[in-house]
Amino acid sequence: MYLRKLEIQGFKSFADKISLDFNNGITAVVGPNGSGKSNISDAVRWVLGEQSAKTLRGSKMEDIIFAGTEHRKPVGFAEVSLTIDNTDNYLPVSYSEVTVTRRVYRSGESEYYINKTSCRLKDIHELFLDTGIGRDGYSIIGQGRVDEILSTKSEDRRLIFEEASGIMKYKVRKQDAERKLQLTEQNLVRINDIINELE
Ligand code: ATP
Repeated sequence: MYLRKLEIQGFKSFADKISLDFNNGITAVVGPNGSGKSNISDAVRWVLGEQSAKTLRGSKMEDIIFAGTEHRKPVGFAEVSLTIDNTDNYLPVSYSEVTVTRRVYRSGESEYYINKTSCRLKDIHELFLDTGIGRDGYSIIGQGRVDEILSTKSEDRRLIFEEASGIMKYKVRKQDAERKLQLTEQNLVRINDIINELE
């Protein structure tokens, strides 16, 4: 599994649609200060479901939409698509290529797609669970993150190892099941109350 392609349109400094092709192996992005190198990694974080404007170096989510320049009008939406080569079936789907897409409008409404089919953020999150790629994955190490990882609480550090060792999906499923059990117990209490009232 590796990152094959990134398409960016209306995201931060990229007003027009650009397509970046990556090969297997190491890719370096070089360019002058302020030319948009970090905006590329922000685009990767964002399409994987990042919800924090601060992490994307903005103050609100609208800041990620191309805001216009002296010569160019702002645009109404931002869209990023990330294509993963899955010929080794690392991702648990039967496609050899998986493309996730996120689009956001100035109204704040976000849309997510997996291989052009509309989906929920949760689906994208689940697709990448335990691969290290997801929103909370360790595959993007930003400036300062190494220090943060080393100095953070041991419980927080453990999450990184849990994601790497592949047990995160079981923890998430356990939490889901516990939540459903709790809801069912509350429903049972309500049903018993109603039965008692009727008797
Ligand atoms: P450095 O090497 O200094 O870290 P960089 O190549 O990583 O720079 P970025 O931080 O990716 O550069 O890009 C910064 C540029 O993106 C700035 O010129 C900024 O004006 C522009 N930019 C950020 N958000 C938007 C936006 N919403 N609309 C238009 N341009 C934007």
